[in-house]
Amino acid sequence: MPEGERPEDPKLQAEAARKAFENEFERFARFGEAETALRELGELRSKHTGKKSALSAVKKMVGRVEASERASFGQLVQQIEAEIVRKIDEHEASLKSLVEELRRERERIDVTLPGRRPRQGHLHPITLLRQKIEDIFVSLGYAIEDDREIETDFYNFTALNIPENHPARDPLDTFYTTEGFALRSQTSTVQIHAMERRNAPLRMIAPGRVFRRDTPDATHNPMFYQVEGLCVDRGITMAHLKGTMTEFVHRLVGPETRTRFRPSYFPFTEPSAEVDYSCFKCNGAGCRICKQSGWIELGGSGMVHPNVLRAVGIDPEEFSGFAFGFGIDRMSALMYKLDDIRLLFENDVRFLEQFN
Ligand SMILES: [Zn+2]
Repeated sequence: MPEGERPEDPKLQAEAARKAFENEFERFARFGEAETALRELGELRSKHTGKKSALSAVKKMVGRVEASERASFGQLVQQIEAEIVRKIDEHEASLKSLVEELRRERERIDVTLPGRRPRQGHLHPITLLRQKIEDIFVSLGYAIEDDREIETDFYNFTALNIPENHPARDPLDTFYTTEGFALRSQTSTVQIHAMERRNAPLRMIAPGRVFRRDTPDATHNPMFYQVEGLCVDRGITMAHLKGTMTEFVHRLVGPETRTRFRPSYFPFTEPSAEVDYSCFKCNGAGCRICKQSGWIELGGSGMVHPNVLRAVGIDPEEFSGFAFGFGIDRMSALMYKLDDIRLLFENDVRFLEQFN
């Protein structure tokens, strides 16, 4: 004990008494605990005064004690009961006022606190990538076209040189709405509308939603975003297509990116080619993102089929063109290293917040 402090000092003892009380009373002073204590007190009341209490059992004995002692025994029992009830009532009243006070304290508004800032939103990762792609093509002289999502057979298939018996027309692949109408399965439909409206020459891209009957899994969704591009002019060749795709990946992925064209088949282009670009992660050495191949698939491309030009009244003898298309969802999944593209449409804010 430090010098100068005498335990027998009455003031100190008074302070010690206060401190001891504060220590034990603290738990009652907390809102939740005060409420708990109040509830426990209610339980205590029914335990000691209720029908199954020891006191209640004793009350039943009053009639059985000898007549001479009955009056004094009855008095004793009444006295005990009154004492228990009084103590509980008193304590309950003070606990109730404490709870009330703590609740007022908790709900009091502190007008000096700064206001809550509205949460600032941001663009969806798919929108961010779409805008980046649009910027690149606008700078290359392309217009951005948008159009309807429900299409007629003519725009979705016939004008794109997809014949009646083609498997793409199968209801297993396409969402038909009413007879002759379907949710567009590619944004090439927009190219047909644009060519009809603006005629040749034209350069345009059509970003937008398309719909196919795919079962959702880590790499498929029945609805996804595409960008399709079209360039029609006099003297357009495959070299223009290759140059455009190469310039695009240079600007989107990086100047060191290489492109590769593999022969392919699409009804609306001839010749057709799949476009790959060297992996942005390993630069062609092979890694998990490119599945060890060193290449990532960009999408399909090719020279516009003469039948497609004829379908919109453009003379294929005078004009030629190239077209290309790729999926924005899969590209953003790759760039953001997502294992599952379904995450992009689940709208979980905690997930989406990472991309602002
Ligand atoms: Zn790689």
